[in-house]
Amino acid sequence: MPREWLLRQNSELRREDIYNWSLPAWAGRLPDGRTYNTCPSASSCAKLCYARSGTYRFSGVLAAHERNLTMILDDLRGWEWRMESELNHPRYRGCHVRIHDSGDFLSREYLDAWLRIIRVVPAATFYAYTKEVALFKELVEPDPPVNFHWCYSLGGKQDHLVDREHDRHADVFTDEEAMKAAGYTSQEESDLLAIYGPPKVGIPANNIRHLRKRQGLASFGELQEQRDNRRRGPGKQYHPGRP
Ligand code: SF4
Repeated sequence: MPREWLLRQNSELRREDIYNWSLPAWAGRLPDGRTYNTCPSASSCAKLCYARSGTYRFSGVLAAHERNLTMILDDLRGWEWRMESELNHPRYRGCHVRIHDSGDFLSREYLDAWLRIIRVVPAATFYAYTKEVALFKELVEPDPPVNFHWCYSLGGKQDHLVDREHDRHADVFTDEEAMKAAGYTSQEESDLLAIYGPPKVGIPANNIRHLRKRQGLASFGELQEQRDNRRRGPGKQYHPGRP
């Protein structure tokens, strides 16, 4: 029987020898009735999420992501063992593994499992975008595996914890001009610029019309800032992205 791989590649990622592990984006309900939220710190990004509005138009994608999530929820240790043994296959030697093109580190236990996997697979390099800033500052930053890189992504509940001058982070912009004006460099040429390029990573917004309209001219980080300031109320405004 052909082997069923946990990590996948599309044609774009294959070009750069990147493999990918995905979870369903944000919140939903599994076929067995359980509800989930794989992006506990998502906020402004959720209404503009490409995975939910774009990728899931293709039949089978959401189901495959939900199968991955089910493995984690039902038997985290078993999944960890399976992932670790898969990553010892020669095809992963020297490659990059992107953890999540949708979903996030949904729990401390799940992040811990990934950290153990990464440490025992030194032949591959792992990377991730994440909105779980507090968890990373506590569990990853003090002693990161040498083969793990991460990029905080704006548009979440923990944007205020991102140090915009020192932390590698990403924001999503609707046009190149706005991206440049804010001092961000596009990663469109290569997914790996997220971890090897300049630390202010600019992501061009996708081309889905209703999402573009909903986003307007603001970046994800700016939308989150507006949202947070509405909640804080007058006199308590906070503008992390501006001098
Ligand atoms: S964190 Fe990413 S995958 Fe999750 S809702 Fe936001 S944009 Fe979508």
